[in-house]
Amino acid sequence: MNIQKKETHSFQSEVKELLHLMIHSLYSNKEIFLRELISNASDAIDKIRFESILSPELQKITPKIQISINKAQRTLIINDNGIGMTKKDVIENLGTIAKSGTKSFLKSLENKKNSIKNELIGQFGVGFYSSFIVSDKVLVRTKFAKNTSNEGILWESSGEGEYNITNIIKKTQGTEIILFLKKEEDEFLETWKIKNIVNKYSDHITVPVEIQIYDEKNKTYLWEQINKAQALWVKNQSSISDQEYQEFYKYLTNDQNNPLVWSHNRVEGNHEYISLLYVPEKAAWDIWNRENKHGLKLYVKRVYIMDNSQEFLPNYLRFIRGIIDSNNLPLNVSREILQNNSITQNLKKALVKRSLKMLDKLSKNDNKKYQSFWNQFGLVLKEGPAEDSENLNLIANLLRFTSINNKIAEQTISLKQYISNMHEKQEKIYYITADSYISAKNSPHLELFKKKNIDVLLLSDRIDEWMMNYLVEFEGKKFQSISKEDSSLNKLVEEKSVNTEDTSKEIVDFLNRVKKVLGSKVKSVRLTNRLTETPCIVLSDSNEMTTQMAKLFTAAGQPVPELKYIFEINPKHELIKKISKINESDNFEEWIKLLLDQALFAEKGNLDNPHKFISRMNKLFIQI
Ligand code: ADP
Ligand code: MG
Repeated sequence: MNIQKKETHSFQSEVKELLHLMIHSLYSNKEIFLRELISNASDAIDKIRFESILSPELQKITPKIQISINKAQRTLIINDNGIGMTKKDVIENLGTIAKSGTKSFLKSLENKKNSIKNELIGQFGVGFYSSFIVSDKVLVRTKFAKNTSNEGILWESSGEGEYNITNIIKKTQGTEIILFLKKEEDEFLETWKIKNIVNKYSDHITVPVEIQIYDEKNKTYLWEQINKAQALWVKNQSSISDQEYQEFYKYLTNDQNNPLVWSHNRVEGNHEYISLLYVPEKAAWDIWNRENKHGLKLYVKRVYIMDNSQEFLPNYLRFIRGIIDSNNLPLNVSREILQNNSITQNLKKALVKRSLKMLDKLSKNDNKKYQSFWNQFGLVLKEGPAEDSENLNLIANLLRFTSINNKIAEQTISLKQYISNMHEKQEKIYYITADSYISAKNSPHLELFKKKNIDVLLLSDRIDEWMMNYLVEFEGKKFQSISKEDSSLNKLVEEKSVNTEDTSKEIVDFLNRVKKVLGSKVKSVRLTNRLTETPCIVLSDSNEMTTQMAKLFTAAGQPVPELKYIFEINPKHELIKKISKINESDNFEEWIKLLLDQALFAEKGNLDNPHKFISRMNKLFIQI
């Protein structure tokens, strides 16, 4: 081995960008570098603990993280006896950013204000590179635990585009990080300051964190343990303060914000486990990224097993963060085993219930917080009815809507509230789906409901139509789309403004003429009493696909059968009265076709042939 040989490598361009951000310290909160380094050391120790279960030949060590300060050299040193790194690991981990999505993350920072950048970076977790917030130069001395030789790797960089790698002698396994602090960062050379930071961020780390102190009396150096080194979730709930729960959450997620709520449970009996689940205050920036890593941190009998185990929560609860510590799963559990395991299935069931109950409790105890939760995560929760029929009712209870009576676009009404405000003769929960709140709110379908003062839920999120396929009823009340035919509506219309059964010759003749003009373009033609201000409307047949559903299919590139609507006419409308008196058949035909196009336009928000519609309209204008 050539001990002295030094190799120079260039950082991956994303790392350069990140380092640039670090060095020009966006950070208002510089001390987090220590949290990041201790968390890496603790991860490295978790990994070696896990490895030694699988490979008992590995040397048994007492895991610890040791911090020392050298004031003369202005260095702060963080040493661990964890898994360490090979040369390849070093190049991969400390020269590139392996995490997918980092590019798009960095991109998302462009043109953002510093305060927002700060928050986003905090959420993202800057990790090891945050050392350069406070350091001019950083050395990493490391040796992989399975490497039985005396050779290790030295990585060094001043964070400006390049780093050097040298082979060195290193006897002990693990990693030592040496920070050469910047001139203005003297405070991190103070023992009390370091103790404070460790207490604040890393108290709940299960590995002891020690600091070197000078014993004046005996004139020697000693190691003093700073943290309690006990897993937070193992402690009794009553002995954990809110602040401890909050700090643990921040450590777990890298989120700078406090969690909105949490639920900590210990279950004994056949399946023994402890779970600690959190609902964040803000959605992670990549919650809509399909590759977004989510899931709980898994422990088995207090031993860390893996991050982001998605097997314990369904997709629609992917915003929930936290840990699960099982006593029943085997220690050498892999993702494959987790996927086909009845213990996992049982845990998942229980955790889903816990999560939903936690949200239900929040909705009952703190409306303001619940509303903030809904505004952040409502769209994700709306995936629930399709994904989890077993808990349909619990999920439906958590949904929030806007409605005619709500007056604002914000979704604040629960189904329970809607039902308690129902008209005495009303049997169903009425809703309409549209492309936007404005278009739902102004839909002609609402005219009758507004007149009768019956509330209608206004749904305009893309997922709504999909969700409504799975919401059939709630507390015995069926859901009814008001853009569909619905015979139960007649019960609500006592004094009918229009006799829809009118069989007078005049009406029958008129309807027949319309039918003749429209032929197979529509399913049927009839009178309506749904309308007050609009001359006509189209409805979907009760067993046919709705317009919104057809749009979803089209957007997803799926074939859609041609939609045929029921064409309903409001005979009280002045325009209809006028048209019905036109004898000349060409002219009558133009008017009826224009009316159908109008109704289709209002329903779909677009027309197959807008050009034709405009030229027909202009032709009729000229006659005026
Ligand atoms: P993250 O911890 O989120 O993966 P970091 O930037 O903090 O990102 O660390 C990058 C990688 O470097 C880690 O995933 C790990 O593989 C490696 N690493 C960092 N510090 C240590 C350490 N003390 N011991 C072993 N590996 C480490
Ligand atoms: Mg890290």
